[in-house]
Amino acid sequence: MERAFSKTIERAQTSAVREILKLTQSSRVLSFAGGLPAEDSFPAEAIRAAYERVFERGAGALQYGVTEGVPALREWLTGFLAEKGVSTSADRLLVTTGSQQAIDLAFRVMLDPGDTVLVERPTYLAALQALSLADARAAEVDSDDEGMLPDDLEAKLRTHRPKIVYVTPTFSNPGGKTWSAERRRALVELARAHGALVIEDDPYGDIRFEDGKRVDALFGLDAAHGGEGNALYLGSFSKTVAPALRTGFAAGPADVIRMMAKAKQASDLHSSAIDQWALLELVTRWDLQGHIDGIRRMYRERMEGVVAGMTGEPWSLLRYNRPTGGMFLWASLPETYVAADLLKLAVEEGVAFVPGEPFYAGAPARNTLRINFTHTPPALVPEGLARLARAIERYAAAMPAK
Ligand code: PMP
Repeated sequence: MERAFSKTIERAQTSAVREILKLTQSSRVLSFAGGLPAEDSFPAEAIRAAYERVFERGAGALQYGVTEGVPALREWLTGFLAEKGVSTSADRLLVTTGSQQAIDLAFRVMLDPGDTVLVERPTYLAALQALSLADARAAEVDSDDEGMLPDDLEAKLRTHRPKIVYVTPTFSNPGGKTWSAERRRALVELARAHGALVIEDDPYGDIRFEDGKRVDALFGLDAAHGGEGNALYLGSFSKTVAPALRTGFAAGPADVIRMMAKAKQASDLHSSAIDQWALLELVTRWDLQGHIDGIRRMYRERMEGVVAGMTGEPWSLLRYNRPTGGMFLWASLPETYVAADLLKLAVEEGVAFVPGEPFYAGAPARNTLRINFTHTPPALVPEGLARLARAIERYAAAMPAK
């Protein structure tokens, strides 16, 4: 029987890249592909103890809860966020099932089919998927290492009249880059002037490698202009505690949060209450900041280990950034190379990465690739890089000489 699915889901095809990446599931393959945190960073014992304490309080935590999220967790979040320059109140916060759900809900409540959202070049792949499920379009704004280029942003705000500009300004996925203070201010001001809501997706902001002052949240820069606010800040405990808790949140203008809560009711009524209670138990009785500092050190070392292994030949073919935080390194091969073709050879050698192609809403830079440096245990990194080096050598040898 030919089953008829919606046109929207039919259009959201799986990409060729994802098909290749399925091959990387085998234990033979060392993978720099997934966006996975290090398992040895998960505070498993502390999480187990937190769940036990929740159960000691009786069966109440097993009951349905409110859509907006456990009130006491939202109260705690207001203090946690204030330290990041995100000043909000419990009634302007929505706890979501990962920050991925917050992206999806925000798009669903703001966008009509055919609407356009402005995104970075490149941008977060699963935000593009959520946009496509909302039947909306993405338009790329030209971006460099410091963020979106203000002239192009202004031009595209004028031509597309978007309701949303979606960005990951701090330690982005895939680019591993962080916007400068000037570009942050420019975005906030231009978005206000053109009536587009800024969605600031910030799952990596806590994982900065350098000590010292944190970067200004767009949310805070926007709030300095006063009024109802024009920024929606999305956060997550996936990278700082554990992704399986599926606990993220959105902070933003009261009307946007209200609409997102309405859409969330239809989606899952509320995010798992027991997981929220356990998270609250954890963060109020344990040194979250100390734990985050440990992750920052661990990931910095892992990033440095990968970068140190990518020197000499054939690595001189690759240009890459040295991220100051987050989980990814972004690299470019010579312009005529196609990273998806290199991936086929890499999988044969027993190593994987993600080609950059699916992270582009417009014409992809097919020579780019993303390398995750957090998940592969350091002891296996030299072998993984040796395999990747062999794949690059084979690929380069097969390229026509100039
Ligand atoms: N935004 C970005 C930029 C991400 O990289 C991720 C995780 N891959 C998410 C949002 C979603 O994370 P979670 O749903 O686990 O909070």
